[in-house]
Amino acid sequence: MIKNLTDTYIAPTYARFDVELVRGEGALFFDSSGRSYIDLGSGIAVNSFGSCDTEWVAAVTAQLNMLSHTSNLYYTEPQSTLAELLCTRTGMAKVFFCNSGAEANECAIKAARKYKNDKYGAGQHNIITLKGSFHGRTITTLAATGQDAFHTHFAPFTEGFSYIDIGDLDALEVYLKQGAAAFMVELIQGESGVIPLDNAFVTAAADLCARYDSLFIVDEVQTGIGRTGKLFCFKHYGITPDIVTVAKGLGGGLPIGAALLGDKVASTLTPGSHGSTFGGNPICAAGAVNVIERIDHKLLGEVSEKGEYIRTQLKSCINVKGITGMGLMLGINTEKPAREIAIQCLEKGVLVLTAKDKLRLLPPLNIPNDLLAQAIEIVKTVIDS
Ligand SMILES: *Cc1c(COP(=O)(O)O)cnc(C)c1O
Repeated sequence: MIKNLTDTYIAPTYARFDVELVRGEGALFFDSSGRSYIDLGSGIAVNSFGSCDTEWVAAVTAQLNMLSHTSNLYYTEPQSTLAELLCTRTGMAKVFFCNSGAEANECAIKAARKYKNDKYGAGQHNIITLKGSFHGRTITTLAATGQDAFHTHFAPFTEGFSYIDIGDLDALEVYLKQGAAAFMVELIQGESGVIPLDNAFVTAAADLCARYDSLFIVDEVQTGIGRTGKLFCFKHYGITPDIVTVAKGLGGGLPIGAALLGDKVASTLTPGSHGSTFGGNPICAAGAVNVIERIDHKLLGEVSEKGEYIRTQLKSCINVKGITGMGLMLGINTEKPAREIAIQCLEKGVLVLTAKDKLRLLPPLNIPNDLLAQAIEIVKTVIDS
């Protein structure tokens, strides 16, 4: 029934797996026939503490019973608390709240262009991104996405985006010299197959951006919120970005995104220059406060340990050719096609993701060890069968 209605009435933009999910409980999902599945995907890195986590539900429902929505014409408590948490825990200066990753990146792009325009006048608007990157589905964030496959169907795209190969500092410097507004990267390319950038490249690129007064934007929509074993992935690299974009895991299951703005761009966005009706909505913000407050040293240590456990286990598979990623964001290169593995895992009660030709695992940050072990045992069997 759910499937029929969906296929009849919803635009067919997704290649859905053949399962109707009706209930979630931590790292478990249940389908319409009552069967359970261990979740190694977190709704694509969204359910940071799994589905319907008790503490998170309590925080969100308390807010629901207090104040649901007001618009940004008024001051509200949850978004102020969340903004303070995000700034004090990252060293960033200001936050702009929106509802998704694409919107967070739109904000970053607007802030970078306005920063350059305010300071140097028109013309220095170019945004440099990496080949293989993924930055969202709006016309502008598709333009930012450095993959030809995304530059079809919807032309004309937003102007002023150029793409360089990972590691090509010379090409980056040419663009920066011409006055590029920003260089935007995912430190681990998620959708492209969990591909981490090299530390030397990232630090050199950050230095170059600073030298030419171009902004260094880090898209942490997938890598942020504890996913890699640190609150944000940029902390692994020892750099301080000018702008960090966040979404997916921030709300713990509710739609909220944010652009974290460093000192350089703290006063760039002025009244009327940007906005969002829902951005920082009290319910979503209350969920996000609960998520951020619980990502402490202990939890981050467990994320790293669980990531290491998965790596060790999967390395023993004959048909695993390589494992990339950090913490609980892992890409696995296998002999068998990843989509086939995902379908077979589903049949055996485990939900996994794919990214390009790789298997991708993004389990809830607090997945219990016994469920993780059970799920990985099944994944191993499927990979080697
Ligand atoms: C998912 C993702 C986005 C887009 O986020 P939406 O919330 O779907 O708009 C942008 N950048 C990265 C790195 C992502 O993984």
